[in-house]
Amino acid sequence: VKNIKKYFPYKKGLFGKKGFVKAVDGVSFSVNKGETFGLVGESGCGKSTTGRMIMNLLEPTEGAIIFEGHDLGSLNENEVRDLRKDFQMIFQDPYASLNPRMRVKEIIAEPLVIHGLLNGKQREKRVHELLEVVGLSSYHGERYPHEFSGGQRQRIGIARALAVNPKLIIADEPVSALDVSIQSQILNLLQDLQEEFGLTYVFIAHDLSVVEHISSRIGVMYLGRMVELADKDSLYEEPLHPYTQSLISAVPIPNPRIKRERIVLQGDIPSPSNPPSGCTFHTRCPFVTDLCKSQIPAFKETRPGHFTACHLYND
Ligand code: SF4
Ligand code: MG
Repeated sequence: VKNIKKYFPYKKGLFGKKGFVKAVDGVSFSVNKGETFGLVGESGCGKSTTGRMIMNLLEPTEGAIIFEGHDLGSLNENEVRDLRKDFQMIFQDPYASLNPRMRVKEIIAEPLVIHGLLNGKQREKRVHELLEVVGLSSYHGERYPHEFSGGQRQRIGIARALAVNPKLIIADEPVSALDVSIQSQILNLLQDLQEEFGLTYVFIAHDLSVVEHISSRIGVMYLGRMVELADKDSLYEEPLHPYTQSLISAVPIPNPRIKRERIVLQGDIPSPSNPPSGCTFHTRCPFVTDLCKSQIPAFKETRPGHFTACHLYND
């Protein structure tokens, strides 16, 4: 993902000046084959928009998505359709993302139909296989989505995503809508599937507790920008950006003898249609200086493999 931006135009008032919501404002990162890259930030930080641009569901205003050496923006329609097969998405809401009028077996087979893969008999066999792979038995295929619990529906969504043997799965808050007791089951399933099928995940979440166990590297976004990116251990052990520090301070620690001071940020996240100048975090940062208000901090490698955008670490 190379310096992608997504600006949504809007008008202030009926005859007002045109403005832009800078939903994503220059985000870069790479995802290695077979890893889980966690993309974390509060709602409105641009993480879902980033996921949708990778999926080719939204066109970037600027920047490039490169997959196995192919710049997606430079491909023709047929080439994009071929590549699209390698990308699948799992959505946050397993209620809204499954068509209530379709049987489960039709839902799971749909991507095979769209991509013209397998004939009728083979599709049926594949659907049975997929149901078992996600821990549902094959007779469930005859039923409709409303007959299932939230966790089961997310399993159906996962089976649908796996149908065409994708390489990359963008999981956009796949457990946020589920009960805590079900969340770990789905996370374990995703991890097992990754191992079994060599999948690569971009795992989007709004807090750091969910991605801790599943991610190898994590990027933290704030108001459309990446503010920190590191492998999981260095991010949790030594978070550099004040925003990440506050997020980590909110993650519960299982060992009650370790005490971590909770950093509570002042104020709410500002609107992306009118972001603060300089470092967009300056309105909430406990370490803010005058420089922060006027200059955007560069996104720099502060420790080996550990990047952050904060003036505290410049020189
Ligand atoms: Fe805080 Fe300044 Fe760093 Fe932004 S650049 S996070 S305002 S210290
Ligand atoms: Mg979202």
